[in-house]
Amino acid sequence: MLTSIAGQSVIVTGGSKGIGKGIAKVFAAKGAKVVVAARGLDDAEATAKEIRHAGGAAIAHAADVSNWESVQALVATAVATFGTVDILCANAGVFPQKKIIELSPEDWDQVLDTNLKSTFLCVKACIPVFEKAGKGRVVVTSSITGPITGYPGWSHYGASKAGQLGFLRTAAMELARYNTTINAVMPGNIITEGLQDLGQSYLDGMAKAIPLKRLGKVEDIGNAALFLASQEASYITGQTIVVDGGQILPESAEAIDSI
Ligand code: NAP
Repeated sequence: MLTSIAGQSVIVTGGSKGIGKGIAKVFAAKGAKVVVAARGLDDAEATAKEIRHAGGAAIAHAADVSNWESVQALVATAVATFGTVDILCANAGVFPQKKIIELSPEDWDQVLDTNLKSTFLCVKACIPVFEKAGKGRVVVTSSITGPITGYPGWSHYGASKAGQLGFLRTAAMELARYNTTINAVMPGNIITEGLQDLGQSYLDGMAKAIPLKRLGKVEDIGNAALFLASQEASYITGQTIVVDGGQILPESAEAIDSI
């Protein structure tokens, strides 16, 4: 049993759908007050409403995490509504699939801005709040794709996800003076709206390649994020947790077939 996070103020970027929605619901179920942030206000509001109907505390806020002014406004809204930001879950991300030969410089920038630059912007905007409070927590949603594995069509995505880990190792050192930790969850294949867009044959193929023989649930990532935000994880910083059902382990197709 982890020490309660009830009453803590949490920003979840990309909280309207998928993994972010899972994180928002897991934290809200433990009594945290959640700011659900995404570009689409309707979806964010629907998630916040779902949380409120279940007895939790949540508001929706429209933000584009690749835009500095928008991120500053998000943090200001969280502080104005809930008094502070105790926990930042920098989760928003996109994963359009395109091979390098077809990838334009603009495609590259869009993915790097949304997935990597956003992580820097969200952390930067929260630093004055963490400094004032004398504490803070950051949980980044990275991926196994990039830091550990590769997949055709995701060179830009993989670079952004590996880049987040490069960022967090130095950020962990800089944030330590504000009694703030930063760690990352590295999901394998988790069933979300975004992943379902890749089609059933992709989902079926992936499930076969995972030792636990199923795709992950958004709550699997929410629970790992909850641990990293907990009092019990207060001496962990600059680290990562892979949550992938063993997906990165098999050395060959034979290895997975022989389970
Ligand atoms: P998803 O279902 O497509 O949801 C993405 C969320 O991010 C939505 O709430 C979306 O809302 C928001 N978003 C996208 N661009 C944004 C922007 N510029 N500003 C603010 N919000 C933005 O995706 P997901 O599968 O849950 O993925 C979430 C995170 O997990 C990503 O960082 C992804 O890389 C990572 N991840 C996912 C998997 C997986 O298997 N699903 C595996 C590894 C890592 P709007 O479109 O309304 O803005």
